[in-house]
Amino acid sequence: MNSSLFFTEEHEMLRRSVREFVERELVPHAEEWEAEGMFPDWVFRRLGELGFLGLHFPEEYGGGGGDYFTNIVLMEELAKCGSFGVNTGVAVQIGMATPPILAFGTEEQKQRYLVPAIRGEKIACLGITEPGAGSDVAAVKTYAERVPSGWKVNGNKIFITNGYRADFMTLLARTDREKKGYKGMSLFLVDTDTPGYIVSRKLEKVGQWSSDTAEIYFQDMVIPEDALLGEEGRGFYNIMWELQGERLIVAVAVIAIAEVTLQQAIEYGRERTQFGKPIVKNQAIAHRVADLATELEAAKSLTYITAWRYDRGEYPVKEISMAKLLATQVAFRVCDEAMQFMGGYGYMMEYPAQRAWRDMRVSRIGGGTDEIMREIIATSLGLYA
Ligand SMILES: Cc1cc2nc3c(=O)[nH]c(=O)nc-3n(C[C@H](O)[C@H](O)[C@H](O)COP(=O)(O)OP(=O)(O)OC[C@H]3O[C@@H](n4cnc5c(N)ncnc54)[C@H](O)[C@@H]3O)c2cc1C
Repeated sequence: MNSSLFFTEEHEMLRRSVREFVERELVPHAEEWEAEGMFPDWVFRRLGELGFLGLHFPEEYGGGGGDYFTNIVLMEELAKCGSFGVNTGVAVQIGMATPPILAFGTEEQKQRYLVPAIRGEKIACLGITEPGAGSDVAAVKTYAERVPSGWKVNGNKIFITNGYRADFMTLLARTDREKKGYKGMSLFLVDTDTPGYIVSRKLEKVGQWSSDTAEIYFQDMVIPEDALLGEEGRGFYNIMWELQGERLIVAVAVIAIAEVTLQQAIEYGRERTQFGKPIVKNQAIAHRVADLATELEAAKSLTYITAWRYDRGEYPVKEISMAKLLATQVAFRVCDEAMQFMGGYGYMMEYPAQRAWRDMRVSRIGGGTDEIMREIIATSLGLYA
């Protein structure tokens, strides 16, 4: 694809500086962070110092005032650090937990949470999912009850990225038990050192080991009146708007990682000789690579075009869902095939193919599963009307 359709010279300059940072400061540590099960907090601070956490936020809050493609550049280059958990942690920080603060927050909330998040001084997480409310967000039970000093919150959240170390959570809770389903939910900004905010455990995952994922309980946690983010009762609608950006970010990141993985498999296939020739010269393998490269290119085109529309203020929910569905399926297929091309070596922990395969699997689950993407697309096509 002609990338100049979407990327300017400024984007390319940004790409060079992110790439240099990734190669110099992240790549040397990727193995260590995978082994330790978490990348360190200084990564957020360093990204903040370099201005990379605020690329798409307004300058008045310390951001770069760039378009959506600046975030795409960041995600594509971070994907090359060798530890996909870094992408996920950063994506939650810049694209999931903080955009609602810019969109719906008061000036005080922006100064208190958004500005330090852009600087990398505060780490953010997003609390939507609960043990009984995954795809069905309307089933959220965590309840925030009005009390004289503000709100008393009880409930729990699960699978929370950055949840083990976050300084604050953008929380979705029910505020009106009378109103069922999508109504009666609100968003809150919660400091994680509030009494009653309990990180119960860091969860062990199949992949993305360097990203921390936690289960969190709220036990009679009292938060002030002004912890409410946006209008009371609009929480579900406000967070659903925000999830569209999250899905695009996921699509961008997985394509970037799949491209790196496919390239590594091709290089391996050039070196590996069986039956007297490099395995990549077998037409069965070469054609399979050709198919996967074609599918990746198609997924990338759909993602870029949809991101371009999103950046112009459109709200193309159907196409965002299509981009997320296609990108994550193709990316996982690429990682699976890359492992196949590498045979037994691909299955060994000392080669990177297994990590890409493990890390990629969750992208078909998090941020809305394949099935939920199909449901949104089917509804948009009027199939249930
Ligand atoms: C590593 C990781 C990180 C995450 N990070 C966060 C985070 O930071 N914050 C947060 O709030 N959440 C987070 N999540 C949660 C994630 O968004 C949910 O896991 C996801 O939405 C699916 O919910 P569930 O796991 O409860 O599965 P379920 O909703 O129980 O789904 C189980 C299966 O049933 C299918 N299914 C459900 N309903 C339908 C239907 N109507 N039609 C057809 N099939 C259906 C699903 O597609 C899926 O295959 C994370 C998850 C993971 C694994």
